[in-house]
Amino acid sequence: MNKKLQWICAFTALGLTLGGVGIALGNMDKLIMRGDKNSAQVSAAVTPPTVVIDPGHGGEDGGCSAEDGTTEKELNLKVSENLRDILNAAGYSAVLTREEDTLLYDMYGELDNYKGKKKVYDLKNRLRFAGESGAGYLVSIHMNKFPDKKYSGLQVYYSQSSGQSVALADRIQEYTKTYLQPDNERMTKKAGSSIYILNRAEMPAVLVECGFLSNDSERERLKDEEYRKKLSLCIASAIIDSVEADRARTQEK
Ligand SMILES: [Zn+2]
Repeated sequence: MNKKLQWICAFTALGLTLGGVGIALGNMDKLIMRGDKNSAQVSAAVTPPTVVIDPGHGGEDGGCSAEDGTTEKELNLKVSENLRDILNAAGYSAVLTREEDTLLYDMYGELDNYKGKKKVYDLKNRLRFAGESGAGYLVSIHMNKFPDKKYSGLQVYYSQSSGQSVALADRIQEYTKTYLQPDNERMTKKAGSSIYILNRAEMPAVLVECGFLSNDSERERLKDEEYRKKLSLCIASAIIDSVEADRARTQEK
């Protein structure tokens, strides 16, 4: 598919029109031009890898929650759905680890009783699903919370599995700062052993903390569908540019 057409499809998937992009998304149109430029350099003959998007938490595990009752799990799923729709509409294969409000510990029916083991099986199964889906990238979506309400801003953690994880994390952090959060001075971080999904991932993997539910204004933005679309577009564009950079490198060899 022609690159321009891919982006038009992506915006249609978001319920936006190109005519309205400049107004609705501010400098998001620069993001489209960036996508055009980078992708034009590579052939469409190579099938891009599947991107597995993982909405964190679910079901009885709401993740962190805001003062007003907003739960992380619901926002994680909404951002993930937007991301998947943009990538699919732009011609990239993307799937979600969960599409419902549920944990995934019994996804493969391994145990009769998961008492005390739900969390670890949930995370194990997300990774197993990503592996079986042939994930070229795994992108886990989360929200942040901190006792001091002043903190805000997206921050990306990366797996130590490969340099591609670092490159994708840097792109997501950079595009979000450039196009959506100019005051965000956060840096990407290497995941420690406490982030199971990144610690155990064998494919390039990142975890995006999209923002702080403890910060009043950021929480209100995250609850706004239009803001989530912009955020998803930044993340999707970073994923697409990473996939295309990988394809260009492969073709050079
Ligand atoms: Zn979380």
